[in-house]
Amino acid sequence: MKFKELGLSETLLRTIEEMGYVSPSPIQEKAIPVILMGRDVVGLAQTGTGKTASFTLPMIDILSSGKAKSRMPRSLILAPTRELAAQVSDNFDKYGKYDKLSKALLVGGESMNDQIKLLEKGVDVLIATPGRLLDLFERGMILLNGVKILVIDEADRMLDMGFIPDIEKIISLLSMNRQTLLFSATMPNEIKRLAEKFLHNPKYVSVDAPASASRNIEQFVIWTYGDCKFEVLEALVEDDDFDSAFVFCNRKKDVDKVANYLINKGYKAIGWHGDMTQALRNESLRKFKDGEVSFLVCSDVAARGIDIQNVPHVLNFDVPINPDDYVHRIGRTGRAGAKGDAWMIATVEEAKFVKAIEKNIGSKISVAIIEDIDAPSEEEIEEEIKFDKKINSKSGATKGNNKTKRKFDKKRSQKKSSNYEKDYDKNNSNNKSGSRKQKGHKKQDDVSEKEVVGFGEDMPAFMVSSID
Ligand code: AMP
Repeated sequence: MKFKELGLSETLLRTIEEMGYVSPSPIQEKAIPVILMGRDVVGLAQTGTGKTASFTLPMIDILSSGKAKSRMPRSLILAPTRELAAQVSDNFDKYGKYDKLSKALLVGGESMNDQIKLLEKGVDVLIATPGRLLDLFERGMILLNGVKILVIDEADRMLDMGFIPDIEKIISLLSMNRQTLLFSATMPNEIKRLAEKFLHNPKYVSVDAPASASRNIEQFVIWTYGDCKFEVLEALVEDDDFDSAFVFCNRKKDVDKVANYLINKGYKAIGWHGDMTQALRNESLRKFKDGEVSFLVCSDVAARGIDIQNVPHVLNFDVPINPDDYVHRIGRTGRAGAKGDAWMIATVEEAKFVKAIEKNIGSKISVAIIEDIDAPSEEEIEEEIKFDKKINSKSGATKGNNKTKRKFDKKRSQKKSSNYEKDYDKNNSNNKSGSRKQKGHKKQDDVSEKEVVGFGEDMPAFMVSSID
C-alpha cells in the first residue's frame, strides 16, 4: 500500500516523501484511514512499529482546520513518561512542519511557567504526562472540555506505573463529544475495561511486535549464580564485538551498581533512571546517541519511550519479571532488518521468569556458556522450577525459599575471587592484574567521570507483519 491511498492531505504526503518513508507501516495502514473517519481506535502495537505516526499524521490533518482558544487545548495526548511525551512532541514537529499547529508539552521536571505561557496562547496539541496535567488543571491553568481528540499512548505502561486512576479522572474532565485513540503494546484486562468504558464502538487494530523472537535477533541465556553475574557481564562486554549496548536491570539501585561497575572497569557507561534530573537524562541520552559512551544501563520504566531504535546488543543483567518487558527490551535491537543479539544473565532463582518469557515468545532461548564461570546444571534449574511450582501451588508464594538457595550454595564449586562486591569496593581497580583485558576503545581516561553510552545512528523501525 502507498501513503497516498490512506486519505492524508497533499501537504502531509509531501512531508512524508521528504522524510524518505517509502510505504506506511502496518499499524499506519490500518489506523490512519479509520482515524481520519473520526472513529475511536484501540491499537495494539509496540514502539518501533511506527505507531506514533499512525496517530500524529491523521491528527495533523484533522486539526489543520479550526483555531485554539486560550487554555483550551483542542487535542490531548497522554504519555506515561517524559521521554515518550517528548518523542511524540518531536513527531508533531517532524510531520507537522508545513502545518503550523501550536503545541505544548506538559511534563514534570521542566519549567511550569513556560508551559503555562504556552497554554495561555492556546494550543492545538497538548502532550502531557498524567501527573503534570492534573497538577495544572487543579491550579486552574487549563480547561479540558475543548479536547476533541484524546490519545492514550502506551496504556499498558500507564497501568504498570499506577496511572489508571489519573487517566480515569482526566477522561471525566473531557467532553463526551470527542474521538478517543488508545494504544497499548499488550491488552491486560484492566486496559480492556478502560477501552470498553471510555471508547465508543472502537475499531481494534493490531500488529505484531517489531522484534519477535523468531526474527533477526539471536537470543541467549547464560545461567550462573547471583554473585557471578558481574563476571558474566564483564566477560560479555570485553568481547570486541560488544561495542554498544543497552544493559537492563530490574531495580534502580542495580542500575547504579552495574553502571559503576562498568565505569570502574574502564568502560564508558552510564546509569539512566527515573531518579535522575530531566537535564541529566537528556544529556545522557544525547551522549549515548552520539556514541560518546558505549553502555546505557537502565531500568524498564526509564527505557520506555527512549527514541533509540537500533543498538547491536541488548544485555539483560536481570531476567525481567514481566515477560512483555523482555520483548520490549530485546526489541531495541534487530530493527529494520538489522542483525542484533540479546543476552540474558539468569540465576536459578530467576528460572521461572525465563520459562514465562519462553512461553510468551513461543520458543526456547539458546543457552550460552562462558568458560570458567560457575553455572548451575540443567538439573538444578529444573529442580528449582519444580520446587517453585510446588511452593506456589501450596501457598501461592512467588519466591524461591531459603532452603532451596542454601542447597544451591552448597553445590557450588569454589567461588571465584573476582566477585562483584570485591571488585566494586576496590574502586578504580581497572587494569589490576588478574582482571580480564579491556578493549582499548572502550576505556575511559578518567574513570571518576561518568559518561554515557555510545550508539550510532538511529534506524527507522517499522513493523514486520500484521494481523487484523
Ligand atoms: P514508533 O513506533 O512510533 O516509535 O516509530 C519508530 C520509528 O519508525 C521512528 O523513528 C519513525 O521515524 C520511523 N517510522 C515511522 N513510520 C515509518 C515509515 N512508514 N517508514 C519508515 N520509518 C518509519
